[in-house]
This record gives sequence, C-alpha cells and structure tokens, in this order.
Amino acid sequence: MEEIDLLIVGGGVVGLACASAAARPGRTVCLLERHPRFGIETSTHNSGVIHAGIYYPPGSLKAALSVEGKEALYRFCARYEVPHRRCGKLIVAGPDDDIASLETLQARARANGVEDLALLDEAGLKRLEPHVRGSAALWSPSTGIVEAEALVRALRDAAERVDAALLPASELLEAKPGSERIEVRTTAERIAARAVVNAAGLDADVVSEMLGGQRFRIYPCRGEYAELIGPSQQLVSRPVYPMPAPTGEHLGIHVTPTTWGGVTIGPTIHYQDDKQDHERDRLPVEAFVESTRQLLPEVRPGDLRIGSTGIRAKLSEDPGAFSDFLIGLDPHQPRLIQAAGIDSPGLTACLAIARRVGMLADEVLDDVAAGPDRHSPQEERHHVFFPTDGKE
Ligand SMILES: Cc1cc2nc3c(=O)[nH]c(=O)nc-3n(C[C@H](O)[C@H](O)[C@H](O)COP(=O)(O)OP(=O)(O)OC[C@H]3O[C@@H](n4cnc5c(N)ncnc54)[C@H](O)[C@@H]3O)c2cc1C
Repeated sequence: MEEIDLLIVGGGVVGLACASAAARPGRTVCLLERHPRFGIETSTHNSGVIHAGIYYPPGSLKAALSVEGKEALYRFCARYEVPHRRCGKLIVAGPDDDIASLETLQARARANGVEDLALLDEAGLKRLEPHVRGSAALWSPSTGIVEAEALVRALRDAAERVDAALLPASELLEAKPGSERIEVRTTAERIAARAVVNAAGLDADVVSEMLGGQRFRIYPCRGEYAELIGPSQQLVSRPVYPMPAPTGEHLGIHVTPTTWGGVTIGPTIHYQDDKQDHERDRLPVEAFVESTRQLLPEVRPGDLRIGSTGIRAKLSEDPGAFSDFLIGLDPHQPRLIQAAGIDSPGLTACLAIARRVGMLADEVLDDVAAGPDRHSPQEERHHVFFPTDGKE
C-alpha cells in the first residue's frame, strides 16, 4: 500500500490547481482522475468566461473567490501563455427591461469589490458593439475569456513541476476511513492518505459518502450551446449578456466569443437525472434563434449550428435558488477537505479555491512532514503558482 500525505480526487481545473497549491517540500501529493486525460468533464465544457464577480450575493464564496480568482487567473494565464483576452463584457437591457435593474446589479458588484462597472446609454453600447441591440448596458472591463483546454494543460504542467503525482485513468472505487489515515482502493492500486481533497465535480456527492464525509446531493444541470458560423462571427467582439433572471443563478443565454475566433450562444438550463448524458434530447438549433436575435438582430437562422454541452454540478435543484460553493473541512470526517458544488464561476475561481484548499491541507496535516525549512520554499512555490504583477 502506497503511503502519502494528501490525496486529491478529481483532475479538473479545481483538483489540478489544488495539487499545486497544496504541494510543499517533503509532502507527498497524489491526484486521481478516472479518465485517461485531465479536465475532460465540466472543466472543458463551459463558456470560458473569466467572470468579474458581479452577480453573486455579497459575502458568498462565489463572490469572494471570483474576485480573487480572476486576477490570479489573469496572472497565471499571462505567465504560462494560456490563450486569454481581458476583453470586457456587456450586460444589455432590452426594450422590456427596467434600466434601474442595471444600477441594482452595479450596486451588488460594488458590494463584492467590483468597482469598475460603468453604465452606458444606447450610443455608448453601439460604440463598443455596433451590431448589438439594447437601450442601455453595463460595461464590465475586467471580464475576459480563456481557452479552457489550454488552462487544463498549464495547470497539469504546474502540478507536475511541484512533483505532485498525477494519476490519470485511476478511479476511486472504495475507501476505508480511519482515525490516522484514509485507505482507498483505485482501479490501479491501494493508497493510504493522511488527508483527502474531494474535487470530484459531478460525483462529489458519491465521493464524499465513500470517504465518510457529509451527505449532500449534486444535481446535474445541462447547458446546451449553439454556435455562430461564417461572417456572422464578426458581429460581436466580446461577451454580451442579457439581463439576468431576478432570482437564482441563470445569467441568461449569452453570446460569447472564444479565444480561437468562434462565437458560442448559450448555455441553456435543464436539470436531468443522468450526470453524463450530454446528447440525449438535444434542443434543435431553432431553439436558439430568438434569444440570439434579441441581442444580435442581424443573425439569421442559417447563421447558427448546434454546439457543445456542459453539465453543471449544482447543490440545489431549484433554478431560482442561489447555492454557494461547498469548501471547507468536512464536519464528519476530519481528514477530508471538500471542494464540492463547484458550478460557475468555478473556472474563474479555481486558483482562489485551490489557495483555500492549500491552507486547509496545512491545517489537517499540521505540516509536520514538511520539516523546519518549509517557509521559504513554500513562499517561492506560492509565487511560481500564483504569480503576482509586482504590486502585492
Ligand atoms: C455550461 C457551463 C458553463 C460554464 N461557464 C463557466 C464560465 O464561463 N466561467 C466560469 O468561471 N465557470 C463556468 N462554468 C463552471 C466551470 O466549468 C466549473 O465550475 C469547473 O469546471 C469545475 O471544475 P472541477 O474541477 O470542480 O470539475 P470537473 O472538471 O468536473 O472535474 C472533476 C473531475 O473529477 C473526476 N472524478 C469524479 N469522480 C471520480 C472518482 N471516483 N475517481 C477519480 N476521478 C473522479 C471526473 O472525472 C472529473 O474529471 C460553467 C459550467 C458549465 C457546465
């Protein structure tokens, strides 16, 4: 049986970022991913937006970690040459929307520490995006886009650089929690770990139960996309969102340019029972025409084709309810750290989530194994993984 300090279950952006953030000299860190490649579930099936932190209730983890995470992510992407663009985004009020709602959103963003939003009138909107229809808009300059596949690769490389053992094609099958360590059986081997991080995305509920942790349920919620094709891709150059629903977390079907020159339309929102069913009963492309034309009236039905899908790992089954990330020490299993319920903005927040998980791992492991000289190398590693812009 392999004896290690920290086991991370899940090789999406959250698990991979945790592997780097929790690595310390003298500490053995190992990550299990059931697929042969990392990040092929939710981490590469999303809109690729680096969120500013506008929508989430002040005081929530989603608000705090998107604000912290977006800046860390911009620095990480610049340092590791991950394609990204700090292009800003527009939230547009349509003819039936109350413009005062834009001010409410701006106030909420300010309470989250997002101070740079500006209200634009119709002329201001047209100057930025001439083809977008709207009577007013909220301009968010710190929003951006990132290439998720490249981000996964860079996070994997960063984790390997700090000697985390990354094990693809290794599924956690069963666990025997004990007071000093948790023993697990994977498809490949047996491992005993002094602490475990649950970053298992859609299966975080199954993994938590297996490890003797708290019971919760992950509700899979599919989001479907269409894509613009041909010259219509030139109609927009930055993400454009409608007004969000007054309650809940659905940001509305939006138009999002990708770093490689495409434009996605979506995602829709549909709760389903199956966590892995990406394709059954797909919406026809016609279902996207009206919402696209509300923002971009020049788009014709022939300008759209069906795109990809992603499945959100939600902690609530009520689309009108807000549910926060679940990050912390497990109340039942003292050797388990939860990083669960990581739906949007988890891509944006992955480095900030990892930073918290790294601190929690220090608490659980008490860092005895890291030895007396851990502080300076730890800081060095921290700066490699969370590069600063020199201002901090
Ligand atoms: C439609 C959609 C749009 C989104 N848009 C955005 C956006 O624009 N911006 C943003 O910030 N966020 C967005 N998100 C959210 C973001 O994609 C997620 O928050 C993020 O990818 C979560 O990463 P993760 O590592 O927690 O999960 P995952 O990527 O799902 O990784 C979990 C991993 O755990 C593995 N695993 C599970 N069980 C086991 C086991 N027993 N043994 C071994 N491995 C296991 C899985 O195989 C998987 O690879 C969106 C999500 C969706 C679905």
